[in-house]
Amino acid sequence: MPKFYLTTAIDYSNGEPHLGHALEKIGADCIARYRRLRGDDVHFLMGMDEHSQSVIQAAARTGVTPQAWVDAMADTFAEYWRRLLCSHDDWIRTTQPRHTQAVPALLERIRQRRPADLFEAEYAGLYCTGCEEFKTEAQIVDGHCIEHPTLALVPTKERNHFFRLSAYRDPVLERIRSGAFRVEPEIRRNEVVRLLEAGLQDISISRQRQPWGIPFPGDPQQTVYVWFDALINYLSATGFPDAAFERLWPADLHVVGKGITRFHCVIWPAMLLAAELPLPREVWAHGYVQWSGAKMSKTAGTAVGLGEAIERHGADALRYFLLREVGFENDGDFTWERFDARYTADLANTLGNLVSRALSMIHRYRGGTVPRAATSIGSAFDDEIRGALVPYADWMNANRLHDAAAQMMHIAASANRYIEETAPWKLAKQQAHAELDVVLANLARTLVRLAIVAHPFMPQKADAIWNTVCPDLPLEPATLQDAVIEVEGRVVGAVPILFPKPVEAA
Ligand SMILES: [Zn+2]
Repeated sequence: MPKFYLTTAIDYSNGEPHLGHALEKIGADCIARYRRLRGDDVHFLMGMDEHSQSVIQAAARTGVTPQAWVDAMADTFAEYWRRLLCSHDDWIRTTQPRHTQAVPALLERIRQRRPADLFEAEYAGLYCTGCEEFKTEAQIVDGHCIEHPTLALVPTKERNHFFRLSAYRDPVLERIRSGAFRVEPEIRRNEVVRLLEAGLQDISISRQRQPWGIPFPGDPQQTVYVWFDALINYLSATGFPDAAFERLWPADLHVVGKGITRFHCVIWPAMLLAAELPLPREVWAHGYVQWSGAKMSKTAGTAVGLGEAIERHGADALRYFLLREVGFENDGDFTWERFDARYTADLANTLGNLVSRALSMIHRYRGGTVPRAATSIGSAFDDEIRGALVPYADWMNANRLHDAAAQMMHIAASANRYIEETAPWKLAKQQAHAELDVVLANLARTLVRLAIVAHPFMPQKADAIWNTVCPDLPLEPATLQDAVIEVEGRVVGAVPILFPKPVEAA
């Protein structure tokens, strides 16, 4: 079984998660679940970034200690990810000992192998407390950080430890160009390449007198800069510096937002090269969830509460909608109208309707037992559906989740059309038993296949579909290659109401 170590970005502990956080976790979870179906040995990591400056401020406002604050935030995030059916194998918090030990260990390793790459110098610049980083001219618009136009930039001057990032421009560029380190999708790779081609400056990796952070090894006056600290979580979770870390490392895929590619595709690989450690195989940078083409904003009244979005049609429907409509590559819109429209058209009227019609007919015409019809396998319809599974797998392998979700719905629509074309009710009336058997067996097999392809997107609904035909078999180990499952002779369950009509608001 090939190992597949997959991570998401770890989130700042300074407020409740929103739809943007949710898109990333759902997309990564969809990839993790698909890889498990493929038979990969998946290790899926999520977690919290707990050393940011904003934690001190948030804790002070609430009158609790920073530790009490991050504990409460970690519980809040974990609860949302549980509600959204995230299947992570590990949950890292940067305040955990395994991480606070790994950070100085990595710095020590760089100091031993590339001593010239760490040095001290005076640093002066404009600091954004929202990003927790000094901003360059290109990142400042009208005197404010591009990402945080409402925050004032703080002029800061201090003695810091530095990392010789400038030495890694060519090595990182070379690995991206050769494909040894993949940055996807292409639009993000091009951005990162342009950034590297423009040249790199050395970066400050410590802060003075910061009470909440990891002490810089050998200099108790300084703490490790929060971004340098946070990136190392991917390594801490493997057990680094214990030799067993090589069982998981290098990561096979880091899933991050498009706004933090500089950290993950430039700084992080440079840090690893300095420590003489292998680079992750791939970074996938997704887009943002928008509201009618604009960034979601609490002040503009366009911030959608995550709890409210889950309650609208359930977690499975929200997962499907975000990946199908917003997608995992570019920015995409969230609106309640589009969510309701997709719910009705795709989930209720296409997928839900197919499951309901197919099972009802097996009950009505064959007493609930899938008929034995040897000629169903290899029939034109069977070939069509089997053929449709190929692009689905191709899209999933390429992290094109939006296209894979569309393909899943295409399969359901094909099966609905097959019902219309074969008109089983006419076959029953004409006593055309052999033909009817073929249609019903084909439909039962399609439900099983749909359960498999739907599982990464909608795990609960997929399990419900699966269990109507194969309640005795677990869905998990079923790989796509096994999609020709023996359905003949199986007794199907009652017709489930998968996607109930929403209660109209009064
Ligand atoms: Zn900022």
